[in-house]
Amino acid sequence: MISFLNGKKKIIRKYGWLESFAKVLPFLAVFAGGVKLVIDVTKGVLEPGDFLYFIGIYIVLINSLDSLLQELATVKQHMFAYDKYREFLGMETMVKDNGTRVLNDPKVIEFDNVWFRYPRTDKDVLKGLSCLLKYDEKNAIIGLNGAGKTTVIKLLLRFYDPDKGKILIDGTDIKEYSIESLRKCFGVAFQDFNIFSVSLRENVVFSNWEERNNDERVKRSLEYAGFPIDCELDREVGKEFSETGRGLSGGEEQKIAIARCVFSSANFLIMDEPTAALDAYAENALMQKFEEYYKDKGLIIISHRLRNVKGMDNIFVISDGRVLEKGNHDQLMELHGEYHRLFMLQAEKYE
Ligand code: ADP
Repeated sequence: MISFLNGKKKIIRKYGWLESFAKVLPFLAVFAGGVKLVIDVTKGVLEPGDFLYFIGIYIVLINSLDSLLQELATVKQHMFAYDKYREFLGMETMVKDNGTRVLNDPKVIEFDNVWFRYPRTDKDVLKGLSCLLKYDEKNAIIGLNGAGKTTVIKLLLRFYDPDKGKILIDGTDIKEYSIESLRKCFGVAFQDFNIFSVSLRENVVFSNWEERNNDERVKRSLEYAGFPIDCELDREVGKEFSETGRGLSGGEEQKIAIARCVFSSANFLIMDEPTAALDAYAENALMQKFEEYYKDKGLIIISHRLRNVKGMDNIFVISDGRVLEKGNHDQLMELHGEYHRLFMLQAEKYE
């Protein structure tokens, strides 16, 4: 992602001077042409009428060159954004992409006794984690900070491979699928969402580049996420590269990340702490809309706010790298275990 920003800077550096040059060029050209024409008129080589005629031609030519250079810069930026998204899909991470099978429409995800520790660390994060996540059930993963919830998703999307155990989708080890096809099946909103200094539209359409000019779809996704849709889609986000860029609050950035997830054509959504940066009102509005949106899609939601997961079919409580408890809200409350303890704690805190 850093490379994306560096690349963007390079484009701006490379094409920025071209644009500036194109802006200055008319004045220089008119000035130089003017001097030459004045000399010619003075010498009697040209009539004053010819002078105006040539000035007109100069201006038209220079304006065309200006537009051409600007178009070129825009095309380059789009190609760059597209390349980066493709790169993300096939991202060279810690794993080998040797799978040849193409995954479409995953239905059952199984973590079978998965052990994992991050490279260059000496602590196992997952310690024999097993769980079954089904497309036609709404799944939630909860647990304290650092319990390993996000790691589960990173392994599922093959940013890393387990040290021991297997992850299977529809009965096949995920290593047998190509990484690109695997990742395309999931619309993901990560906790540490990345909002780039490109236009609002580009920030959303990363997840489904082919649909980038579908304004209605872009706006619908933003609307789902609670982002004002009367906004200019092609205005740059952030002020890093543009003085006219739109500054964003943390909540607005999170809404864009959610819109990106909704915009994807994937049938399985993964939301990692989707409401952490939202206020209680926005959170409530979003969860209500989502229920309607994800009813025909697979869902894995990671949240430490238990009221967001209360209605889910399967809630997995992760603790110390394992599934400690599982069930729906009522079943887990009856257990009087970790879920019950956390729920009561949050009920006291928030209500
Ligand atoms: P959760 O999502 O439950 O808050 P994570 O899955 O993000 O927890 O992290 C689990 C543990 O792994 C934490 O102790 C965290 O510090 C560690 N961890 C996460 N990412 C990395 C990483 N890239 N390298 C080393 N340790 C990491």
